[in-house]
Amino acid sequence: MAAFGTEFSEQLTIAHYVDGAWGPASLQPMGPLPIHPAAHVLHYASTCFEGFKAYRWDDGSVHIFRSDMHIARMRNSAKSLHLPVPDTELLTNMVESVICTSLADIPPPPGALYLRPTLIGTTPNIGAAASPADQATLFVLASPVGDYFKGGAKPLRILVDDTRYRTVEHLGSTKTGANYAAALAPTLAAKQKFDVDQVLFCPEGDVQETGAANFLLIGKDRVVTKPLDTSFLHGVTRDSILTLAGDLGMRVEERDFSVSEMLALAEDHEAALSGTAACLTPIGTFIHQGKEIQLGEGGFPRTARLRDALCDIHAGKAGDLHGWLQRVSCN
Ligand SMILES: *Cc1c(COP(=O)(O)O)cnc(C)c1O
Repeated sequence: MAAFGTEFSEQLTIAHYVDGAWGPASLQPMGPLPIHPAAHVLHYASTCFEGFKAYRWDDGSVHIFRSDMHIARMRNSAKSLHLPVPDTELLTNMVESVICTSLADIPPPPGALYLRPTLIGTTPNIGAAASPADQATLFVLASPVGDYFKGGAKPLRILVDDTRYRTVEHLGSTKTGANYAAALAPTLAAKQKFDVDQVLFCPEGDVQETGAANFLLIGKDRVVTKPLDTSFLHGVTRDSILTLAGDLGMRVEERDFSVSEMLALAEDHEAALSGTAACLTPIGTFIHQGKEIQLGEGGFPRTARLRDALCDIHAGKAGDLHGWLQRVSCN
């Protein structure tokens, strides 16, 4: 299987917003899109996206994981960027229609069809730095993805940065390109200097998240993670893991905590990153102020238990008690 995100379905769905209304969505072959060189997105980063998965079970049925939550988050992202907000129905139909063209390409779980709705501001106006885009294009592309952990999940090496911000506070919960641009240079510098996988951004000591995944501490009978605010992305995986932890009788503590508390807790807690692409991945090493701190001497059984609880729902091997799967019917 090709590397995550580098292989695409043969078609995408696309719709345009002009003169105050969304036009009809249509399917077209995957390939370059015509774009005006003055398009708002190219200069002023008016863009947001989503990432979620559809699973094909052994019986051939296809199920999207929590598409309602992802579509609601996409609409919130669009709103926060003052982009035209696509209707839930339009987005849902576009997602389902691209899935239905790609059925044969969906690998079995833990593989999936990764869905990437993307919204861009297309108004051709380079004078619009301080005004919103009033023309936009929405497309949904799909990418067959294999087992992210083929060959076993390797515990991550993470730099704990207690000064830098991942992005600005009022865009933290918006899934927008500019946030990844902001996190890129610090992440590359950390990779080069400390050979880490990711940076855990903890500005002023407040433990937030990495460039593209949420952070959780997992104790014997509790999970500790930051409460929802606008500084970080509200992961659907995070929400699902917290719910499943509650189902397993664990206490869920959504509260702010500092780097020093986190390092103290790491003595008898596991630490993990959550996100759609990699589900829940244990952290094996923190680098903090030049010191290496090892976690999970006895392995990562609690992380594995929560990850399996979630992956079994994806694969249809465990009951969908919370109604998280939406079955797609193609005919
Ligand atoms: C997408 C994303 C996540 C994970 O969200 P999920 O809904 O769990 O996939 C976490 N942090 C950032 C910055 C993200 O972009």
